Amino acid sequence: MTKRPLIGLIPLYDEEKESLWMLPGYMDGIVEAGGTPLMLPLTLDDEMLAQLMALCDGFLLTGGHDVSPELYGETPIKACGACCPARDAMEQKLFALALEKDKPVLGICRGIQFLNAVLGGTLYQDLPQQKPSELEHHQKPPYDVPSHEVTIVEDTPLYELLGAERLSVNSYHHQAVKRLSPRLTAMAYAADGLVEAVYMKEKSFVWGVQWHPEFSYKTEESSRRILGKFVEAAQSTGN
Ligand code: MN
Repeated sequence: MTKRPLIGLIPLYDEEKESLWMLPGYMDGIVEAGGTPLMLPLTLDDEMLAQLMALCDGFLLTGGHDVSPELYGETPIKACGACCPARDAMEQKLFALALEKDKPVLGICRGIQFLNAVLGGTLYQDLPQQKPSELEHHQKPPYDVPSHEVTIVEDTPLYELLGAERLSVNSYHHQAVKRLSPRLTAMAYAADGLVEAVYMKEKSFVWGVQWHPEFSYKTEESSRRILGKFVEAAQSTGN
């Protein structure tokens, strides 16, 4: 029997309760895909980060707070949401190590935005204000139903995985990729031009999706496949 890859999850942070927490979908989606999820601490300690890097076979950058505009050289506008400096700092260190070790990384929602920002791209701080659109990018619950379509770019790993040009996705974000990082390649676009999925050509598996497979994996095959591909990459590069 092959060992289930261990996937480190960046925790969500609740200021009011001063708590780290996790949405069950992130964990259950990883379990369903064949991995073992492990919620990480928020730490900047080099020794601990090196230990976590050695321990985990892949890392899931979860959704959550807005990425601090400082990461892409902007000052926050009024409509920019709350940021979590502790997460920004931890993810920067962790991601740098993951790149060095070529560990698989999947960024979801804030995760794709973080990847783009940290790799030299920029973000829309607030879509309604900076890029108004006919599309509903900030849908109401339930979150497991599609909100808009995306077009998948041919000759990308996502196209290879799904074998489809179009995909209906859920959408729950008010920020998005503005200028794409030169180190990332777009794998999917919404009809209004927003980048909705990316990957890093130079790495084994660094993907980001703007939608939420952790909400839709129970009902949507494509979401299961994306989580499955990530866990499979962690399996093959792990240990
Ligand atoms: Mn969207």
